[in-house]
Amino acid sequence: MIEGSKTDAMTRKLRMGMVGGGPGAFIGEVHRKAARMDGHVEIVAGAFDIDPAKSREMGRILNLDPKRAYDTYEKMIEGELKLSPEERIDFVSITTPNNWHYPIAKAFLEAGFHVVCEKPMTMNVEEALALRDVVKKSGKVFALLHNYTGYPMVKHARWMVKQGMLGKVQKIVVEYPQDWLLKRIELEGQMQASWRTDPKQAGAGGCLGDIGTHAENLAHYITGLYIDELCADLTTFAKGRLLDDDVNVLLRYENGAKGVLHSSQISTGQENNLNIRVWGTEGAIEWHQENPNYLYFYRQGEPVQILRRGGAYLCDAAKRHTRLPSGHPEAFLEAFANIYQNFVATVRAQLSGAQPTELDLDFPNVDDGVIGMQFIETVVASAKSDRKWEKFHK
Ligand code: NAD
Repeated sequence: MIEGSKTDAMTRKLRMGMVGGGPGAFIGEVHRKAARMDGHVEIVAGAFDIDPAKSREMGRILNLDPKRAYDTYEKMIEGELKLSPEERIDFVSITTPNNWHYPIAKAFLEAGFHVVCEKPMTMNVEEALALRDVVKKSGKVFALLHNYTGYPMVKHARWMVKQGMLGKVQKIVVEYPQDWLLKRIELEGQMQASWRTDPKQAGAGGCLGDIGTHAENLAHYITGLYIDELCADLTTFAKGRLLDDDVNVLLRYENGAKGVLHSSQISTGQENNLNIRVWGTEGAIEWHQENPNYLYFYRQGEPVQILRRGGAYLCDAAKRHTRLPSGHPEAFLEAFANIYQNFVATVRAQLSGAQPTELDLDFPNVDDGVIGMQFIETVVASAKSDRKWEKFHK
């Protein structure tokens, strides 16, 4: 067991360990900043890099006890379990390339630690289902970093759909174009591109797994709808690349709604242009990740309403995840921190024997990870198939 005294768990900082996020890595540093934003978390250990020397270097940068900058994740588990429950980590954040997510998450859960894991959750559906079993069996808290669900205006969009303000959802258009993989920078050793274009490290989807899954998850989070079947076209435009760099999908949802999802990493001029529009029988919403403090609400024949982060009229979830007064922009780091905020609240509740609230539990979990892997598998199958529509692989 990793708990100290029960009352202590509600006030002390939770002790975080990290796997991945070594020198020069991208998302590990974002996790470190986001997790500590609200002062509820301290980083005490890590196996930060595939290269043990770099893991130790990161330990020095973070001013950790050198004994807790481990050479490998296996040694980290071993080392942490030797410490007293008052010292050892409460949870681990996994920020490695995709092929490592499953073995590392499984090992930490089975050793009794809570887990925050990057997406896509695993390499395939089989691993995803196995991980779901491990999470359930362990009773530990598992958060998946679909960070776009952390934005207050996304939470408000979800609330509006739930309140029926859009009527019945009929159409969803979600897109996530980028341009950074237009050229084969993986051949120049660019670290993030190298593993993302290698099926052994990324899985069956390239752009599909990397950002297509974010688009799928965002549409599901806001509307609550499940995909029934889809028709996909995957393309690799960069000659010689082994995975897709452009994704186009038509979606049929279980309630009869239709959707269009596209993601791309060869769309010149596009940075992280994640956008979603949802049309219902009574109204519509529109949200743009690159301008995330605003949510547009349309009703036929009426002037557009621009809802703004910080407004007193917003739902509880949006208000809970707002740190600054309106007009002072919050964005990517804060949305990331919001996932951590709810994860931490849920872990604290568990450590102190309390029930987490519905707002505490508002973060992507292992079930979302399973859907993400099923989405990748179904899209790949559809793209390879001669038939037009592929039933969603459940
Ligand atoms: P990166 O290449 O920048 O960093 C990966 C790090 O993991 C490196 O430090 C590497 O040495 C380390 N590593 C690899 N294998 C390891 C192992 N077995 N043990 C310890 N460390 C190991 O990659 P990145 O861009 O930061 O992506 C990492 C993960 O985060 C991927 O799964 C990616 O899909 C995800 N990601 C998510 C978001 C998001 O918005 N949620 C954004 C970027 C990346």
